Amino acid sequence: MTESAVFDARSRPPAEVEHWTCPHGRHAGQGCVTCYQAAADADPALPVWEVAAWFTSARPIPIRALHDVHRHGHHFALDQPSTPLIFLLTGQLRAAQAVEAVAGLVGFLVQNRHIVDEFTVTEVRAVHSLTG
Ligand SMILES: [Zn+2]
Repeated sequence: MTESAVFDARSRPPAEVEHWTCPHGRHAGQGCVTCYQAAADADPALPVWEVAAWFTSARPIPIRALHDVHRHGHHFALDQPSTPLIFLLTGQLRAAQAVEAVAGLVGFLVQNRHIVDEFTVTEVRAVHSLTG
């Protein structure tokens, strides 16, 4: 079974973006620390999601902080594609719904303000992991 969901703040009408609100009332693109913590301690019966979030940062993120992500969120990786100040955070999370997985991934950034203090999520993807 494959299910995917794409959220693109630039092209979707507001009604669809609204749909991306986690059970705690946080917009997935703004992140939810509760979802992040829930995913870290999730029921093993829940599906695993491969989540990707592109975001812009007000300031450059030091290379050391990029590498630090591996240490803090063990299934997460933060990469810098070629465009300056655009970053890609990817990770695997266990959650009942895609929106919780996305809110949890972005919640990692909220939780770790030393990595990025000001960010704007521009696009996210959540796909059921076939390996999970
Ligand atoms: Zn939440």
